[in-house]
Amino acid sequence: MCSALARINLLALNADEVKGFLTRFGEPAFRANQLLDWIWRKNAATFAEMSNLPLALRRQLAEVAVIGTMKLLRAQESKDGTIKLLFALQDGHTVETVILPYEIGDSVCLSTQVGCKMGCAFCASGMPGFIRNLAQEEIMEQVLAARRIEQARGRRLKNMVLMGSGEPLDNWDEVLAFLEAVNDSQRLGMSLRHVTLSTAGLVPKILELAQKKLPLNLAISLHAADNDLRSRLLPVNKKYPLKELVAACDQYTALTGRRVTYEYILLDRINDRPEDARRLAELLRGKLCHVNLIPLNPVAELPYRPSPPERVKTFAAFLGEAGLNVTVRRRLGSDIAAACGQLRNLFCGDPNEG
Ligand code: SF4
Repeated sequence: MCSALARINLLALNADEVKGFLTRFGEPAFRANQLLDWIWRKNAATFAEMSNLPLALRRQLAEVAVIGTMKLLRAQESKDGTIKLLFALQDGHTVETVILPYEIGDSVCLSTQVGCKMGCAFCASGMPGFIRNLAQEEIMEQVLAARRIEQARGRRLKNMVLMGSGEPLDNWDEVLAFLEAVNDSQRLGMSLRHVTLSTAGLVPKILELAQKKLPLNLAISLHAADNDLRSRLLPVNKKYPLKELVAACDQYTALTGRRVTYEYILLDRINDRPEDARRLAELLRGKLCHVNLIPLNPVAELPYRPSPPERVKTFAAFLGEAGLNVTVRRRLGSDIAAACGQLRNLFCGDPNEG
């Protein structure tokens, strides 16, 4: 028997590659379609459940292949239906995935890297520093696991956001391969309109993404509308300041026709003052965009606190009156390890250990 490490992960293969892989078993071509159907449509986690494949083939497959390599270490469900999952990767590192229940359809928040290089001041995911990129199949496995959990509780996954640990545009090749697998009718077969990619603002990659003209939703972690404050909160701003970032987003809108979402986490007395709202309205005036205000899920190790609800309201009202399209995100999962990265840090003890 092959060791788990030497087995082929079928989530890493496209349909043609699965067909090529199956030829070694001397099976007719339609078996590949059956196998793909089990993995991608019927959400099978094991070969044993693939009831229309001959038993001998199922056994052979179990010896040489796997459907994913990650192990679910922990699932925590909040009173509001949010589920946070902690996965162990094959090399022992861990990543988080969060299922978020919304009336318009549930969403899954995916990690794209173990740790992160960006060092955003308010983020638990970035605390351990960067460890490694996730492969496209590791990003996809989070989706499939979430889909199974949703199925089991009678709900359906509708959207996905690349907003968990990691900067997706810093893992360019694997994230693009993942998007291809999402959109591939023989794999996940989901429109990219249901996918939101969130970036701290890697301008050259935003411009490269714009050239691809994908029907993807782009979200920018903005969180401040002046360079000094933004550079303190998101060090990437020192390299790509606001003017360049917003110009890149304008270019994204011009080439794709899609509106950009600006995410703004409201931090008590840091970026929630009237002058902050004024600067934000000024920065985004007249743009095809949406502002998503996010009440902070506080992280014990970090000094930031959420803005009080009345200030959130005033901030949102000011932006609305200035003509911006603005929403306040509902705070989910605050009774379980709240912000992205916290679950991983809690269960892993020392965040530096990974
Ligand atoms: S907010 Fe996102 S980009 Fe910033 S450190 Fe955290 S994971 Fe990285």
